[in-house]
Amino acid sequence: MKLKLAIQKSGRLHEDSVKLLKECGIDISNGVNKLKADAANFPIEVFFLRDDDIPQYVEDAVADIGFVGENVVYEKQKQVEVIDKLGFGKCRLSLAINKNEEYSSNYLQGKRIATSYPVILQKYLTEQNINAEIHEISGSVEIAPGIGLADAICDLVSSGSTLFMNGLKEVETILQSQAILIKNKSLNAELQQVLDKLLFRIQAVKKAKNNKYILLNAPNDKLKEIIGLLPGMKSPTVLPLAEEGWSSVHSVLNENQFWDIIEQLKAAGAQGILVIPIEKMIV
Ligand code: ATP
Ligand code: ZN
Repeated sequence: MKLKLAIQKSGRLHEDSVKLLKECGIDISNGVNKLKADAANFPIEVFFLRDDDIPQYVEDAVADIGFVGENVVYEKQKQVEVIDKLGFGKCRLSLAINKNEEYSSNYLQGKRIATSYPVILQKYLTEQNINAEIHEISGSVEIAPGIGLADAICDLVSSGSTLFMNGLKEVETILQSQAILIKNKSLNAELQQVLDKLLFRIQAVKKAKNNKYILLNAPNDKLKEIIGLLPGMKSPTVLPLAEEGWSSVHSVLNENQFWDIIEQLKAAGAQGILVIPIEKMIV
């Protein structure tokens, strides 16, 4: 039995979805122009769909799982289970107004807001006790204020350049979003096993991306101090160099603490520091 996975057919999530599968050893490169593709070496079948339809298909078990933006999942309110964040497709759903307007917390009171996310927006407005009129439009929301259709917009933003080009400024963030894995609520045991296998691989890929392998040379009299700086998976590997009095130290560093630790290592006498990407990490 094959696990049916829905991903975006084309658009901002498509490439990263295919790439993640590839990094998990699942190759579907021969099927991108079709409605669906089989993987040669994993019991999975990939459906290419519009992102907006993915929650419904997963609720209806037309697909067992899906990769889709949190923004779409929260807007559609379908009965699906959220399993894991995937680390790509990062953006935020924000409110923006004309850049020349002064903004205050009651600015939106009685105003017209254009959005493709009426459910999420209404929830926010209710929480904030704001009475505003929501105008639902399906695309090019950012032009609505310019053509007099709305006083404000609520739209997805990543760099902010689209807002800037349309003379708008971001004033509130309503939701931080990224691609997530959702699943049908009643997956059978056999398919759940395939999903667990896939999740194991996704975890290994995600961990690897957040970590780097580091090698360095250290004079033996500085070893203790240097090892003390390195977290490592267990403890660092230390190997003697051909040159008397020196050792090579190998370890794994998390991206977040990376630059801090490198600086401290240098200051402590480490030399010839090499940093290498990790392809998969299983801990
Ligand atoms: P489809 O044809 O599948 O309906 P679409 O036009 O609705 O595509 P895209 O613009 O490709 O969708 O965006 C898909 C998803 O990518 C969004 O729902 C969101 O989760 C994510 N995303 C990441 N960054 C941005 C951004 N700057 N603007 C819009 N979406 C973004
Ligand atoms: Zn869409």
